[in-house]
Amino acid sequence: MERIAVFPGSFDPVTRGHESIIRRALPLFDRVIVAIGENGEKKSFFPLEKRIAWLHDLFAGEAGIEIASYSGLTVDFCQKYNARFILRGLRTAADFEFERGIGQMNKMMVPGIETVFLLCEPEYAALSSSIVRDIIRNGGDVRQFVPPGVG
Ligand code: ADP
Repeated sequence: MERIAVFPGSFDPVTRGHESIIRRALPLFDRVIVAIGENGEKKSFFPLEKRIAWLHDLFAGEAGIEIASYSGLTVDFCQKYNARFILRGLRTAADFEFERGIGQMNKMMVPGIETVFLLCEPEYAALSSSIVRDIIRNGGDVRQFVPPGVG
């Protein structure tokens, strides 16, 4: 059976931290689906089309990586694509507490889906899309934090 992982997130915008997790996950799975979750309550800073386009550009030519968007439950999206793994990155203890709740609830909803965590590389521990957005709002230079062309 194919090992398919879904990497869900807002990617608003995609950062070098996200990119690192996705590239490091590639050898572990046959396919990684980077899935932009559209949450009705949370208005994004960058439009969905732009976030998709940046991910497409970043991973063009990577056979094992697909880009998708979805609304609704991540576990429903996984089942639709026969993905048995949800991939998430961990930066801090706060990330762990947050992810533990979601991961355990997902596991109770669909026991066959495992959440797999990768610890972030130390240089990306402080990097978040929300800080990148703040820097952009205030006219700062984010090039060291995001892949080329993003922002
Ligand atoms: P969400 O809105 O679901 O938190 P994000 O786009 O912020 O989505 O993040 C998606 C995933 O990427 C999450 O698992 C998050 O922990 C992880 N992530 C975010 N920033 C980094 C980073 N700098 N290094 C490693 N993983 C990260």
